[in-house]
Amino acid sequence: MCAQHIENNETFYNVLLEGNKEFVARSLADDPQFFDKLAVQNPPVLWIGCADSRVPANQITNTKPGEIFVHRNIANMVIHTDMNMLSVLDYAVNVLHVKHVIVTGHYGCGGVIAAMGHQEFGLIDNWLRHIKDVYRVHAAELDAIEDEKKRTDRLVELNVIENVYNLCKTTIVQNAWKTGQPLSVHGWVYSIATGLINDLKVSTSNNDKMDDVFKFR
Ligand SMILES: [Zn+2]
Repeated sequence: MCAQHIENNETFYNVLLEGNKEFVARSLADDPQFFDKLAVQNPPVLWIGCADSRVPANQITNTKPGEIFVHRNIANMVIHTDMNMLSVLDYAVNVLHVKHVIVTGHYGCGGVIAAMGHQEFGLIDNWLRHIKDVYRVHAAELDAIEDEKKRTDRLVELNVIENVYNLCKTTIVQNAWKTGQPLSVHGWVYSIATGLINDLKVSTSNNDKMDDVFKFR
């Protein structure tokens, strides 16, 4: 299935269904028990990533169905009033008992670029405002970067770091740590240009470095 084929095909919808048949045939050829093994899921990882179509969790980590529990939204945000994200996080931590939660951003993120500008986009401005809040917190560092691309790249990284921090602030993660459940949170940024992941090295498995006001005791 090449890009040209996709562009020329007015019924790309049907290409998806054909692709599904190919997926089933290939999976069963590799392992006749492939689908039987997926009767129960036991993923060790929750992925919180951007909805961007170029950043699919399984492909870029060379993993298979069943190995990563996934939540995606615009600009990989962890917003503490987002019932969707909280429900996914709660299920992942308290039912699936994942060992790792990874916030994965990506350089060139359209959501971050939009948040750095002044154009009004409509409803989404309310979502993007969380990224503007990240900019405000780190304005001194960001304003000192003259190159616009480098400044955008840094905001992508800082947005991931702040959302890792937001994860740590949730009662879901703090209660897991309180009860001794092994759980680490991490921040990564993916490069669409190279395909490589940049580990921001902000991994943590306790609330030692958290501002006191956010700690639940
Ligand atoms: Zn994005």
